Amino acid sequence: MENLIIIGGGPAGLTAAIYAGRAQLAPLVIAGPAPGGQAALTERIENYPGFPEGIGGRELTQLMQQQAERFGARVEMDEVTEVNLSVHPFKVTTYRGEHEAKALVIATGASPRKLSVPGEEEFAGRGVSYCATCDGFFFKGREVVVVGGGDAALEEALFLTRLASKVHVVHRRDRLRAARILQERAFANEKIEFVWDSVVVEILGDGSVSGVRLKNLRTGRESVLKADGVFVYIGTAPNTQFLRGQLELDERGYIVTDRRCHTSVPGVFAAGDVQEPVLRQVATAVGSGAMAAMEAEKFIAELEGRAYPERTE
Ligand code: NAP
Repeated sequence: MENLIIIGGGPAGLTAAIYAGRAQLAPLVIAGPAPGGQAALTERIENYPGFPEGIGGRELTQLMQQQAERFGARVEMDEVTEVNLSVHPFKVTTYRGEHEAKALVIATGASPRKLSVPGEEEFAGRGVSYCATCDGFFFKGREVVVVGGGDAALEEALFLTRLASKVHVVHRRDRLRAARILQERAFANEKIEFVWDSVVVEILGDGSVSGVRLKNLRTGRESVLKADGVFVYIGTAPNTQFLRGQLELDERGYIVTDRRCHTSVPGVFAAGDVQEPVLRQVATAVGSGAMAAMEAEKFIAELEGRAYPERTE
């Protein structure tokens, strides 16, 4: 039986692994299909402290994993399909087998939301993408559409200008949600053109993407914009499908936690984007990862009747 299983291998899960490793819990990290989580798919992270010139997302998460392994964490590229939190020790089923654990940290993050328009599924991987860092290269010298007006949309639009000949940012309002510094960079970039007050109602193509059908929300007018690729950045949804009925989730599917990362089930803690609907940053994820691991350590110590030094508020 494991002391602690950490589900998720992004910044929150890996930080929990560093702390739990240093607490001598020899945690098992079930890192899922994409090591490093969403952060690893980010070309450059400029707002994580300690890297004044920025750092590649993959490099940062690889360093976090090395650090966790140095303290005795075991990181497995396996995926959890089911958990049973109504028994103790908790049961965790993965593609490769079954595990039992005294405590769990859930740090499964969030995944890109879909547009849910005709053509999106049909052309997924054939022009429709949710990861500019992964797929941008295929659009060298071509025109692409980026959908969304948040940090992710602008950051990835700026990244795509290095490859594409033109980047059309389609946003449903006439004001961006993204950080001011990203807005300024995007407005100053000659390759970026904004299409305001508009939504994509259909992705067009024949075998691969040839464009999008847009609807202007102010006038109701529809038009066609030609493009070879569509990058969707309209926010994220928490990866909690496998937890339904097991612990308390809010109406949008985020895990409900208190300030100390406790979920509704004693011994199960949550950290990172899966429990943070507002500020989803690497900096906030690592903070909650550390907190979740320390609380898990305390839970295990109490379970085993060992004294645990109380921290005062
Ligand atoms: P976000 O901040 O939620 O922005 C989503 C954008 O998509 C918004 O502009 C929203 O429009 C638009 N949108 C939502 N649903 C839509 C729909 N159905 N059709 C068309 N447009 C739609 O999501 P995000 O940009 O993925 O960022 C997620 C989190 O990660 C945020 O906390 C963000 O700060 C963080 N992040 C940070 C960085 C960074 O700090 N450099 C980089 C990437 C992500 P409205 O504006 O009208 O709501």
